[in-house]
Amino acid sequence: MTPFREIRTSRLADETGTLYKQADLAVALCYPSPYHVGMSSLGFQSIYHALHTLPGSTAERAFLPDNVAEARRLSEGLCTYESGRPVGDFPVVAFSLASELELAGVVTCLDLAAIPALAAERAAHARTFPLVVLGGPLTFSNPVPVGPFADIIVMGEAEELLPILVNSLREQPDRESMLHDLAQREGFYVPSLHGETPPPTSIAKDNSLPAYSQITTPHTELAGMFLIEAERGCSRGCAYCVMRRSAGRGMRPVAPERLLSLIPAEARRVGLVGAAVTDHPALAEILRALVDAGRAVGVSSLRADRLDHELVGLLARGGYRTMTTAADGASQRLRDQVDRHTRVEDLRRAARLCREHGMALLKLYVLIGLPGETAADIDELARLALDLAALAPKLSLTVSPFVSKRNTPLDHQPFEEIASLDHKLALLRRQLRGRVHLGGDAPKWGWVEYRLAQGGFAEGLAAAQAARAGGSFAAWKRALGG
Ligand code: SF4
Repeated sequence: MTPFREIRTSRLADETGTLYKQADLAVALCYPSPYHVGMSSLGFQSIYHALHTLPGSTAERAFLPDNVAEARRLSEGLCTYESGRPVGDFPVVAFSLASELELAGVVTCLDLAAIPALAAERAAHARTFPLVVLGGPLTFSNPVPVGPFADIIVMGEAEELLPILVNSLREQPDRESMLHDLAQREGFYVPSLHGETPPPTSIAKDNSLPAYSQITTPHTELAGMFLIEAERGCSRGCAYCVMRRSAGRGMRPVAPERLLSLIPAEARRVGLVGAAVTDHPALAEILRALVDAGRAVGVSSLRADRLDHELVGLLARGGYRTMTTAADGASQRLRDQVDRHTRVEDLRRAARLCREHGMALLKLYVLIGLPGETAADIDELARLALDLAALAPKLSLTVSPFVSKRNTPLDHQPFEEIASLDHKLALLRRQLRGRVHLGGDAPKWGWVEYRLAQGGFAEGLAAAQAARAGGSFAAWKRALGG
């Protein structure tokens, strides 16, 4: 037995809800990060469920191996979990992408599946290779760098696009006709025809909501948790965020009775997912119903200005030990400048509530490197962190560099020099040492994300080069010419 076979067998045995179906159109549904990340993605799970529900189509899952180097050393091809069939044998290979850095994972998966990564190479080849379809949250910001690898990119929310895609795949006589057919329809980006100008994203009708877990497994960060969308989108306007006022539709809450009716009786842990769950007008009612039934709860996004005794008390009863929220800008001046508007008093109240309800940790997300940030803003952040650390049981700051994204008011803003961001982090570390835990990705990875977030086909091709050269920062720097 190879290691993948062993891993696959034991993970399948631990899953609840795995689907098996034979159909004309079989899709290898790949996640370009390892299993424990992919299985936490509600979007990935809901596409899996939808492909099984549509007439004439089915899906089997595959993931980036946990240890790519080992998979290469053992010459393990990429195979699906459900049947162990090689991904390269499927007529369609689909990927869900959440972030820019996962582009390297797409190339690695295609290489391991022995599928030419470039769409042009696949089209020019005498042998027929699978059609490669991409989609996922990344399409809301900038999908252009993945263009060279994709035959089709599904733009935005896929619920209503998926039946159109499946019909076209089943009914068009050949690949060329199918690409031309889809390129004319709303929500489909065909890079070989549209070039570097993608069409707008599609937004699903409200009655398509909510997405929810098909499979639960103990092998994710949210072990054994049933995930369900409490709302989609956000009504707020943070200038750096691609979800801001979500394509003019704002937040779309799911009615409590509908949401609660979809949770299986056996689900003991329930995660409410969405960009702004604490803005749901009936969140307390939903949480109360869950915790009164003896279930543990998780909420994907806590806004500090929404936290009060009732809400935090319910979260504590639902098993919460770590309260996670975001300040984002380093100072009030910057938070106001980017329309984040979180107040110091909101954060202080969150820290106090965290202690009063017996939680162990307050985790706070912060952005550094916003336009116009100075040393004074970093000093203000250090003072705020020390203040919160005195109020909360324990404080952990997760600091990320600001990366400007397409389709936001801060699009095209430059990325601060890596050395300058490293210097700011060193200043923070010195002031907080021993009192606040400081975490987050190194700024150099923010620079890679920035180049891809603002890039086009050339940056996508550079990502392939970097992935094949081992994926170290030096490899990315060489490939991107930084
Ligand atoms: S950062 Fe959060 S609150 Fe602000 S627009 Fe984005 S999802 Fe909404």
